[in-house]
Amino acid sequence: MSILIKNGRIITADSDQVADIFIEGEKIKTIGKNLSRQADETIDASGKLVFPGGIDPHVHLDMPFMGTYSSDNYETGTRAALFGGTTMVIDFILQKQGNSLQAALNEWRSRSNGNCVGDYSFHMAVTDFNEGTKKEIKHFVEEEGITSFKTFMAYKGALMIDDRQMVGLMEEVKKQGGLVTVHATNGDMIDYLVSKHREEGKLSPLYHYLSQPEVTEAEASERFADMANYTGCPGYIVHLTCEGALNAVRNATRRNQNVLVETCIQYLVIDASLYERVDGAKWVMSPPLREKKDQQTLWAGINQGIVKVVATDHCPFKWQQKLMGKDDFSKIPNGHPAIENRMELLFSEGVYNGRISLNKYVEVACTNPAKIFGMFPRKGTIGIDSDADIVIFDPNEKHSISASSHHMNVDYSAYEGWELTGKVKTVLLRGRVAIDNNVCKLEKGYGQFIKRNKVNGMI
Ligand SMILES: [Zn+2]
Repeated sequence: MSILIKNGRIITADSDQVADIFIEGEKIKTIGKNLSRQADETIDASGKLVFPGGIDPHVHLDMPFMGTYSSDNYETGTRAALFGGTTMVIDFILQKQGNSLQAALNEWRSRSNGNCVGDYSFHMAVTDFNEGTKKEIKHFVEEEGITSFKTFMAYKGALMIDDRQMVGLMEEVKKQGGLVTVHATNGDMIDYLVSKHREEGKLSPLYHYLSQPEVTEAEASERFADMANYTGCPGYIVHLTCEGALNAVRNATRRNQNVLVETCIQYLVIDASLYERVDGAKWVMSPPLREKKDQQTLWAGINQGIVKVVATDHCPFKWQQKLMGKDDFSKIPNGHPAIENRMELLFSEGVYNGRISLNKYVEVACTNPAKIFGMFPRKGTIGIDSDADIVIFDPNEKHSISASSHHMNVDYSAYEGWELTGKVKTVLLRGRVAIDNNVCKLEKGYGQFIKRNKVNGMI
């Protein structure tokens, strides 16, 4: 099977040209002007932008959490991602405290195997680092192709590890050629503030926000950077939201340290005023949404090259599930749906509104996730012998977001009624047309588990 994409404006992280792309099998074979190759199928991309497939390195599909499961499974979640131009996701396996990493991998495989429409990988979340866990790290890096290890400095009593475990894990992960990623907020402070607000009868969603003030994130980000610096382990902060935390990273750069930073699309475009609404539970996530000044900081951080990735932390719960916390914010399942909206929101708010360049857009949404997590240049770019993961995008089409038309398995949208400029038209995944004219052409099971290479924190 071969496909020829004609006359698209091809954007990568560092190039911009009108040319044709010839694809054979799963790979890109030739890129050039006026190619005269015969193909089984020709797609006219005149007037369109052509991006590498988006990579969302932070999603939670079919995840057990707070007594329920996130409502998108591997099929609905990866399909919705494709509709939005994201051809690959990285999901999280959560170790159960007291159990092995391998047991968690087996459990996650039982839900994901054969069920994905788009490509995927896993981060391994280490919630209990001990002599047994330490021995498993090498196997994950060398045999399983899972080279990133997630840690939580929050969710005390469930997922949180202490600093002793963090330093031990960092030393081992560095030795084996991996990367430690972190949910960097101060779990003890948050635990105290949640208890205090509950005792005072302050139970609305606004108190979710007020229980995780900026300082809890700034403090933990700095502590994580210090531990990464001390051990020499590559470190990556997931879903960084605010000025205080980004300044902690900026401080680390002054001693010549490179801390990798991810933010998520929601922290760039919506703010904490939503928690005062009656349906504020829709936006209950951790860390919470912040202030307008933090959005400015994050856009600047992207342009300064400090914020390297825009992900989603996609973790949807239906309204009925959110109602588990109708009388107590601490019982609201944390997370919001965005896997389908990330690429279009970032284009409209970022590129169309003049905040970031087209090349920067591709860099943070496609290329950097592939580089940081050990998949480049197979994924994350348009180049010879790269996987033919391609998005054909109309930069001028206007459309609006609605739960009535999205493909995520959740009965509301966090962005209901938002008017966007720029729309995904055609998506290819490994040489097959995945999305065309708002129809998905692939079946579940097409999505492959992608083994990743060793990483060193340099991109
Ligand atoms: Zn997450």
